[in-house]
Amino acid sequence: MSEATGSHPVDASHGATPTTPATTDVLRAAENGTAFDGHHPPSADIVSDCVHCGFCLTTCPTYVLWGEEMDSPRGRIHLIGQGLSGEPLSDSMVGHFDNCLGCMACVTACPSGVRYDRLIEDTRAQVERRHQRGARDRALRAAIFALFPYPRRLRLLRGPLRAYQTIGLQRLMERTGLLKRLAPTLATLDALAPRLRGVPRPPARVRARGERRAVVGMLTGCVQSAFFPDVNAATVRILAAEGCEVLIPPGQGCCGALSVHNGRREEAQRFARKLIDTFERTGMDYFVVNAAGCGSSLKEYGDLLADDPAWAAKAAAFTAKVRDLSEILVELGPVARRHPLPMSVAYHDACHLGHAQGVRAQPRALLAGIPELEVRPIAEAEICCGSAGVWNVLNPEPAAELGDRKARAVLATGAELLVTANPGCLMQVAAAVRRRDATISLAHTAHVLDASIRNLGPEALLSRTV
Ligand code: SF4
Ligand code: SF4
Repeated sequence: MSEATGSHPVDASHGATPTTPATTDVLRAAENGTAFDGHHPPSADIVSDCVHCGFCLTTCPTYVLWGEEMDSPRGRIHLIGQGLSGEPLSDSMVGHFDNCLGCMACVTACPSGVRYDRLIEDTRAQVERRHQRGARDRALRAAIFALFPYPRRLRLLRGPLRAYQTIGLQRLMERTGLLKRLAPTLATLDALAPRLRGVPRPPARVRARGERRAVVGMLTGCVQSAFFPDVNAATVRILAAEGCEVLIPPGQGCCGALSVHNGRREEAQRFARKLIDTFERTGMDYFVVNAAGCGSSLKEYGDLLADDPAWAAKAAAFTAKVRDLSEILVELGPVARRHPLPMSVAYHDACHLGHAQGVRAQPRALLAGIPELEVRPIAEAEICCGSAGVWNVLNPEPAAELGDRKARAVLATGAELLVTANPGCLMQVAAAVRRRDATISLAHTAHVLDASIRNLGPEALLSRTV
């Protein structure tokens, strides 16, 4: 296996390249057929950090599924090295990059500290700019990115989706398999769609209960606000109970996570600027997020806007305030009384919380602080459930295999409730549990804490399905 050489024709540094791709670099790369142009190419230094030891292989979901070297982290790093050495961006190379879930289990597993997260993010941006996808793939991606990062558009779907679920049409489609035959992508979305609950939107400002300990801005999110408004409502109640004044400006929009994780860097930058603009004059001490995928991209805003002189400092200041809900609660320490929840739960680490942000101890510490709650570990915890942003929509069959694998591991714990901190994981595991005709209640960490603080008892959680 060859390593990246210093002979590739582009500057591999992450230094002062402009925000807009330099036209000459792009044209030169296109003319000489090399994989990457000079606008943020993947770093040859990071490629050369990989010593090919293979410790990452068994944690990589695509390697676990297919056993193919080129669908492992080591294989993809090798392909990136080939691209840096002057190989063209072939369909097969792009296929292996597209197959990556971006779960970052390999980053956790790597003893050499290889920053695969940076490599794949830069590679994906190059692929999106420089590779012509097939018509069907282009249309599907255009539809996804015209819908998912727009909370208002997603909210418009709530009414029809609710009607579809309540009049029994969804069950009919499931039983007959008609939707799967007519429109497979819609069938995938249909299988993932959560049971909708009507919850009023939170007000723009919620006062702290008791002494105010912090002022926090809160991200309501896209999928979270449209399909899991109850998670946001629980988050607001917990923060207020723990002495936080919560600021929730309406119209805050998307954080850009889906875009940046899929190589749409300029779109992500636009979302990031708007979000920073919405919150920067609120006087918040912290910015709280309750969705793992969003949190991981918010913590990278400093890098995302580093090339933009007008926004770099603001982005870095914003990033310094970002906390996952579990982080801020542990940082502040509890003041609200926890009431007993005599039940068993299995805690699932969302990849973008555990692998990408390294937040594993805090959610467990919060659950451990609830009297009589038993937390059970899940086997193969490091392996992704197959959700991975929109990966499960773009790759429904392998995603379902990974979902089934995760559902088996979750059900084997015998726990009454599955707890996790990402809407994508909740939908993915719920769909897999339904496919097995099994049942388990599912909840966000916020639901469990909220139920304990409000003394609702286990019944409030055991009735929860997604
Ligand atoms: S990010 Fe996940 S899917 Fe991609 S190479 Fe790493 S372990 Fe494999
Ligand atoms: S564990 Fe790290 S060094 Fe070893 S093959 Fe994987 S990425 Fe390379």
